[in-house]
Amino acid sequence: MIQVRFDDTFLPHSGPTQAGLIETASNGGRTGEGRSGVVLPQEEPPAPSIRSIREAERELAVLGEVDVLVCGGGPAGTGAAIAAARTGASTLLIEQYGYLGGMSTAGLVTPHFDCFLNKGLNQELIERMQSRRAWGAPFWRISFDPEQFKMVSEEMVLDSGSDLLYHAFAVAALIEGERMCGVVIETKSGRFAVLAKVVIDCTGDGDIAARAGAPYEKGRPEDGLLQPMTMMFRLGGVEWVQTDGTQMFQLVQQAIAETGHHFRLAFERPWAIHLPNPGEVAVQLTHVRGVDATDARDLTRAEIEGRRQTQAVVEFLTRHVSEFRNAYLIETAAQIGVRETRRILGDYVLTLEDLIAAKKFDDGIATASFGVDIHDPVGKSQIGGPLTGVYDIPYRCLLPRTVEQLLVAGRCISGTHAAHASYRVKGPCLAMGQAAGTAAALSVQHGVSPRKLDVAALRRELQRQGVELGATERPLPDWSTDQSYKPDNPQAWEVPVDK
Ligand SMILES: Cc1cc2nc3c(=O)[nH]c(=O)nc-3n(C[C@H](O)[C@H](O)[C@H](O)COP(=O)(O)OP(=O)(O)OC[C@H]3O[C@@H](n4cnc5c(N)ncnc54)[C@H](O)[C@@H]3O)c2cc1C
Repeated sequence: MIQVRFDDTFLPHSGPTQAGLIETASNGGRTGEGRSGVVLPQEEPPAPSIRSIREAERELAVLGEVDVLVCGGGPAGTGAAIAAARTGASTLLIEQYGYLGGMSTAGLVTPHFDCFLNKGLNQELIERMQSRRAWGAPFWRISFDPEQFKMVSEEMVLDSGSDLLYHAFAVAALIEGERMCGVVIETKSGRFAVLAKVVIDCTGDGDIAARAGAPYEKGRPEDGLLQPMTMMFRLGGVEWVQTDGTQMFQLVQQAIAETGHHFRLAFERPWAIHLPNPGEVAVQLTHVRGVDATDARDLTRAEIEGRRQTQAVVEFLTRHVSEFRNAYLIETAAQIGVRETRRILGDYVLTLEDLIAAKKFDDGIATASFGVDIHDPVGKSQIGGPLTGVYDIPYRCLLPRTVEQLLVAGRCISGTHAAHASYRVKGPCLAMGQAAGTAAALSVQHGVSPRKLDVAALRRELQRQGVELGATERPLPDWSTDQSYKPDNPQAWEVPVDK
């Protein structure tokens, strides 16, 4: 019998959450000032007079039945859908927004780190973007135009033969025994079931794996605190080119010293990341701490706080920092940037030690080398450090424990808090998606569960698709100079953050 599984995430929670652990500073309400109070206090919602309501049982229409259902169209989901369809599976990709790209588009996160590793779909994407003159910007080899990214991602998915359904939110898992057999979606035209032989959770948050009952972890080991969220925003009219992580902070500090303004930045390593269009930058500056994006109330408060910080900072920059004198706000991101939520526990948990050792695995299906970049859950900077080698991401990290016919790809795979802070970047996420989609299609072809799949055959198929497995060296630096990632504190990761 098919069972519908969901959880009680959206029921009002009682008791303080992690947000209540940290004090909030205030700017005293002065107009135009930022505030360092970027940790939102927990606001307990008034208790409703009725605590819950029993939903009536009802028939769910089945919208479709496919070999492979991919939930979430970010880098991982886009890669998964393209690969599954190209490997011969009937495929449906569902996405909550009206376009693909996830953080690359909805989040206005434009650098695509580690994109020269893995080749395969990463390389194809870069070439398609380059042919539209939408890839590469002053200083940044890996920054792109987010609007063109929507078009290219969509074109690649549709060309692959995968079906696509926008404005579809995956809300529950359909389970038969321990086997996933589909997902329940909410759409404008109602609630439906979609049946599938294999489901791939690429929601970033592991929504579907969690609802299916797969175990997961969240946040850092000692207290569960998550990396802060960032509302990215796009400015026009900026001719100045930032080439170092400290420059923008220094400009702001200098302006504060000169004007005596009370402005305070929420993050000490802000970046104005150039985009291919002249004068356009995506700014990574706001930080909202003490919030969990799997909590609807936290997410709402974070969006509001992110836009509030944006307004304050744009006003300050355009008034007081000469490099931004002619700048104007084009847009804030459609959704606040979420760095970290659930990490679904799989058959293997990737660790910081694996990353430092540049470990290779027999079941490696993607590679990564980006440094460990933990935006401090309580401070204003980053913790971590660069990696010297290239490590493998094992296939087992994509296989959630306790549930069959389910794969995860992207930032929600199985790894520790510290390891996640490296493989969460987009190049590896897209490559994991390509591997998951291929694995799902091969599983269907051979009539075996993804867990029982012959991994050697999967690796051969990925290589046939042009994926480079087992790389040992990072091909090109992500920046146009030889400068490599400069962390604040390169020694910090000798602290056993995984313990
Ligand atoms: C502020 C910020 C800065 C970053 N900077 C960089 C950077 O410079 N370079 C870099 O490479 N990486 C960067 N990252 C990391 C990177 O952007 C993400 O980790 C990466 O995009 C994760 O890819 P994903 O496909 O797993 O998830 P996402 O990109 O989050 O995509 C998930 C998709 O699933 C959809 N979705 C979610 N839930 C559901 C649901 N229930 N039903 C249907 N659809 C759903 C979402 O709308 C989205 O399209 C940054 C992240 C943040 C937040």
